[in-house]
Amino acid sequence: ARTVGVLALQGAFAEHVDYFEACIAQYGHPVHVTLVRTAAQLDRCDALVIPGGESTAMTQIASRMGLHEALARFVQDPRRAVWGTCAGLILLAREAADAAPASAPQRPAALVEPLQALEVAVRRNAFGRQAQSFVATCDFSAFLGPTETQGFPAVFIRAPVIEHVLDPERVEVLHRLAGADGTAGTGPVVAVRQGRILGTSFHPELADDTRFHDWFLREFVLRDTK
Ligand code: GLN
Repeated sequence: ARTVGVLALQGAFAEHVDYFEACIAQYGHPVHVTLVRTAAQLDRCDALVIPGGESTAMTQIASRMGLHEALARFVQDPRRAVWGTCAGLILLAREAADAAPASAPQRPAALVEPLQALEVAVRRNAFGRQAQSFVATCDFSAFLGPTETQGFPAVFIRAPVIEHVLDPERVEVLHRLAGADGTAGTGPVVAVRQGRILGTSFHPELADDTRFHDWFLREFVLRDTK
């Protein structure tokens, strides 16, 4: 069996566990899901999910717990699968910039220390404040496959966007939102894949739909065991 760890320092980790457990119960995947808080726990994992939450807080907690280096090593390991959602995507990125609202006072230097595994530059809080959170119904059937319900409710909460793909040869854009004029697929990039690494701006673990988690298990975690 494969072991999927969910980083449990802060944020929406319990939801990821629940969604994976639902997939395992439904399909009998040979997968074990566990919470990760120490380097020893991380070491036992074949895959890691870095959840949504607050990337600054997660950076600080990881450093304080001496986990930052172990995480950096894990996400660089070509044998391990990794998925970052929202704050998790920020932590996986090569570069992470803060949103800079025109009227905001000068902020201290960014406190996020990205792990630099995913060759993208992200901008934090790119859609505005908490109140501007939203759900976009997205068609992910190109990679999730056709199902009865094509629309997937993608939940964006103070989400980052992927502003630049730094290595287009390695990073595949999985999804762009609609543009400002409503044209599908011309807006911000919100889901990318770089081989064994998946990054999503939104929270599939809050979608009330386990298709994304099932796809991650099949496509990233169990793939070479088929
Ligand atoms: N705004 C958060 C950050 O920058 C991310 C929000 C989230 O994960 N829902 O870390």
